Amino acid sequence: MINSKFKNVFIARKLWCSFFGHRFVTTKNVTNHFKEYKCCKCNLELTNDEKGRKIFLTPELKDINNTLELFYQKRHHLV
Ligand SMILES: [Zn+2]
Repeated sequence: MINSKFKNVFIARKLWCSFFGHRFVTTKNVTNHFKEYKCCKCNLELTNDEKGRKIFLTPELKDINNTLELFYQKRHHLV
């Protein structure tokens, strides 16, 4: 029952996070204001909204961030 074992580990990690809080590491600097974060315990992914608050990183936001990053790098002659 690999599946249920995996599920238990997943739940244990979620419990850890709800108990001790997420351990976010920055996974990407999109611009000076937009970053992507990932919890190294439960792999929850977040990004910033336009007001700098942390919000869930959806596939759509990931696409937007990739585009933003490209524009930002071009504007600052990083590529
Ligand atoms: Zn977490």
